Amino acid sequence: MDVDPASLRIVRYPDPVLRRRAEAVDPADESVRAVARRMVELMHEADGVGLAAPQVGLPWRLFVTNAGEADPIDRVFVNPVLTLTSPAGEPSPLEIMEEGCLSLPGIHADVRRPRHAAIEAVDLEGDPVSMAAEGFLARVWQHEFDHLEGVLIIDRMGPKDRMVNRRSIKDLELSFEA
Ligand code: ZN
Ligand code: ZN
Repeated sequence: MDVDPASLRIVRYPDPVLRRRAEAVDPADESVRAVARRMVELMHEADGVGLAAPQVGLPWRLFVTNAGEADPIDRVFVNPVLTLTSPAGEPSPLEIMEEGCLSLPGIHADVRRPRHAAIEAVDLEGDPVSMAAEGFLARVWQHEFDHLEGVLIIDRMGPKDRMVNRRSIKDLELSFEA
């Protein structure tokens, strides 16, 4: 994998890379590590709380987060697996929160997701990562994990938000073609 991290930029909908299912990567690969470090920088420059590799044009199973008060640490999740159950092992209740996306500027939508999530992944040292959260942080993981599956918030929003955001979505489509 030959990638120049300095050349990476955040791509916008409807870039087709955002629709691909991402592939597992090797955290020991120096280019994967360099990309992850650059993604952390790009996330901060854009004032985001998370950024997934497809959002910088790479269909890799990797995302970075720094979820502010909920988890104010730069984290890298390589090849993550999510489990959406409550701490008691029950199916998690759903809740609605408004979300935005760095690849969908100007678009905000209420998205219904499980309140709880647990994540397992490896970090850039190749060490296992295992965390559980609820609320905002659990939502950040789910949003970023969706990117690895080619899923965007516009797929998860209801008819009302679809109407409200129709013009912004169309504008993004037009400016991509241009
Ligand atoms: Zn920051
Ligand atoms: Zn996003």
